[in-house]
Amino acid sequence: MSPPSTTVATPPRPMSEDDGLRAAGRSPKRYALKVRVCNESTPRGGVGVDPAPKKAPPPASAATATSALPMLEVEVAGSDDGPVGREAAVIIHSTVPRGFAIVDNEALEGKKIIATRDYARGDLLYVASCALLDLSPYGQRYELKIYSEDAENQEAGRRRLLDARVNTDTHSGQAPVAGDGGTRLRQVYGWDSFMNHSCDANAHFPPLRRTRTESHYRAVAIRDIAAGEEVTCDYALFDCSCDGQEIEICACGAGKCRGKMLGFQALSLREKVDILHLCDPEIREKFLATEGIKVFRSRLPDGIGIVTSEDGQEKYLVATRGFEVGDVIFENRIERIMRNCDLASEYLLMVDDMYHLLGTEEHFIHRTDYVEMIGFDCFMQHSCSPNAHQVYSDEENYIVYATKTIPRGGVITCDYMALDNQAVGLESRVTITFKCTCGEKNCRGILRC
Ligand SMILES: [Zn+2]
Ligand SMILES: [Zn+2]
Repeated sequence: MSPPSTTVATPPRPMSEDDGLRAAGRSPKRYALKVRVCNESTPRGGVGVDPAPKKAPPPASAATATSALPMLEVEVAGSDDGPVGREAAVIIHSTVPRGFAIVDNEALEGKKIIATRDYARGDLLYVASCALLDLSPYGQRYELKIYSEDAENQEAGRRRLLDARVNTDTHSGQAPVAGDGGTRLRQVYGWDSFMNHSCDANAHFPPLRRTRTESHYRAVAIRDIAAGEEVTCDYALFDCSCDGQEIEICACGAGKCRGKMLGFQALSLREKVDILHLCDPEIREKFLATEGIKVFRSRLPDGIGIVTSEDGQEKYLVATRGFEVGDVIFENRIERIMRNCDLASEYLLMVDDMYHLLGTEEHFIHRTDYVEMIGFDCFMQHSCSPNAHQVYSDEENYIVYATKTIPRGGVITCDYMALDNQAVGLESRVTITFKCTCGEKNCRGILRC
């Protein structure tokens, strides 16, 4: 999706005259995009939605929003005599769902989308679709008409028009190349094309289904969104190269603003990995396939979480429930990598749905003939007075016990110097020297492990 941004160097086009009541003069060819949802969370998933629902849609919530989908209707004026007398031959009708509003952007030119109620992290914000259209016969122009949902449920023709404007391709994006003829198609969005970019966006857009003519997606809250807060998306999640819509000077104002928005491909490796779980699957698959990255997979056991430091440089294992002395915190299995493998390439660790960039030194345990990948446990921090200890049950399995009481939220630590595989008596290969900052009275200072 490539909605416009008020932070784009070129300002949005001025709004055209409201011509919602203008008679077309002839019968247009009109069809509605049927939105079908394959969502196990809704009992009515897979049902095509009437473009003019008779019943009032319920508020957009995770449980109910897919049962009454906002429709994106595409109206194409008759092609026999051309778009004479009209500003645009293609008209997109789109309805703002309850819970959202398009308002003026007070800080910059243009519009923005705000939430009109509170949403929690993980909430389904709305379901929408975009049309894949060949706009080349129409000069890449189309008209976008935006309606309020409240009035849409009245008889056809009486829904309340909020805004109408003629856009060129600044409000649409190049459709992914899908077979012959796909390159000419553009993804044209409805009301949410007014959503602005943020380098620290609060929404992402898992796709639902894509056909040759339409693409359906959900909008999901990445974190809590309060009523009145702007809803933003990170264009890098679904735009690999930006296709002429680069943001040279990003004004998103986020603490971790990247300065520019030049698409996913322009991000640093760490930035790519940090947002990989939110990316459009096509971008993610391409990245993993072309970068020669090996991905390890691991699952967090119950009671364990991974937290990232404020600066994003350190990750820690934390207890998500309390542990008493002697409790088994978790059991884990080692994955061995023989030394003849190329350890210089990049490694990712996928823990549950999140990706983590691994350093070949600090996140692997180096043995004489091989290295060990220990999955999520590679983020356990060292302490000279740790609260956990590993005991190997055989060459490839170990158990981590609590040696101190660990409260819920407490950082789980071990002594890296005790990482030798005692079960097989292998000598740890000394590869890392680091200055310990554990702060314990018995801190050994410089560690070699
Ligand atoms: Zn930014
Ligand atoms: Zn120490």
